[in-house]
Amino acid sequence: MTDLREAPIGVAVIGGGPAGLSAGLQLVRANRRIAILDSNRPRHSATLQSHGFLTRDGAPPLELRRIGREEFEAYPTATFAQAVTREVVPLSRDEALAVGFPDGLGFRVRGTGIRGSADVEFIARRVLVAAGLTEELPPLPMIRAYYGTALHSCVECDGFEKTDKPLALIGETSDLFGRALLISRFSSDLVVFTNGADTVRPEQEAQLSAIGIRVERRPIDDIVGERAEMTGVRLADGEVIPRVGGFVRPRWHAPIEFMGAADLERDEWGLIVVDERGETSVRGVYAVGDIVPPGPQQLIIAAGNGARVAAKLNMDMIRGALGVGMVDE
Ligand SMILES: Cc1cc2nc3c(=O)[nH]c(=O)nc-3n(C[C@H](O)[C@H](O)[C@H](O)COP(=O)(O)OP(=O)(O)OC[C@H]3O[C@@H](n4cnc5c(N)ncnc54)[C@H](O)[C@@H]3O)c2cc1C
Repeated sequence: MTDLREAPIGVAVIGGGPAGLSAGLQLVRANRRIAILDSNRPRHSATLQSHGFLTRDGAPPLELRRIGREEFEAYPTATFAQAVTREVVPLSRDEALAVGFPDGLGFRVRGTGIRGSADVEFIARRVLVAAGLTEELPPLPMIRAYYGTALHSCVECDGFEKTDKPLALIGETSDLFGRALLISRFSSDLVVFTNGADTVRPEQEAQLSAIGIRVERRPIDDIVGERAEMTGVRLADGEVIPRVGGFVRPRWHAPIEFMGAADLERDEWGLIVVDERGETSVRGVYAVGDIVPPGPQQLIIAAGNGARVAAKLNMDMIRGALGVGMVDE
């Protein structure tokens, strides 16, 4: 059964991670009616502790989300729907004006309820896409078993705990060199595994070699370990290189099938291109968090950018209502 929330709202926020929750909080505090639709699949669910969020260093990621949701829902104009967004359809100008949207811009947002929640439908003046990213790890049979414990993807988030350990960096993308430099701050015992991909240029390999970092270009067979502890990386030829943990560079995908025919501009990594206010190439649709360039960063950055884009959205709606143009001067 669909829970029809026909009363028009200000913004439908897709995604209840730090970016979406932070934007939602700012917008309800601006007296806006806001709905957050969240499918409860945060990318960092593989991990037990989140690091580096001021006042919450070491807190479980799910705890951060729980507190964020409670703070948002404490406001009378907040709605939090446990739902997977299925569809975002632009209203025609006449439809938008008819529901009271003064600038003739609006969207119908439909979601399928999860965990026993009803399906939802909202009519919103603006849409904020804060859906994070899904990630694809290199296809090694046991890699998931060590991801979030021995192997991580965010060097800034989890480098400290790996100080002075024998580490691996595994990836097949052209940014491996920069990541290796960053990891060298934490451990000089680092092997970069390209899994057969030609992604570290010879001059980069020479620079890494000069600081004691080896590049291993042979294909990988699997990650090996004893009980829950990672002990090494096994190459396709059978050799095992002892490593106790490290970093992996997943490939990321922006999950925005719900935008349907609306053709949001993407960059070369597939991330959603936004202007300096956070608006996408589709008027009225904004995006924030890991899903926009430069891609995955940290919880506190996602939350900070959520607050920044919320302020721009609020001003856009004020200006749209008054017909005074878009530029914040
Ligand atoms: C293993 C791991 C460990 C990490 N550790 C740290 C750390 O220690 N410290 C740190 O600062 N950062 C850490 N990060 C990075 C941090 O998790 C991200 O930068 C941050 O969560 C990004 O926030 P976000 O709101 O953009 O996206 P997310 O937190 O991914 O939230 C996106 C939300 O959108 C929802 N969603 C997606 N599609 C839909 C849809 N169609 N309908 C409704 N909802 C949808 C998802 O279910 C999810 O809840 C880690 C990341 C990973 C993968």
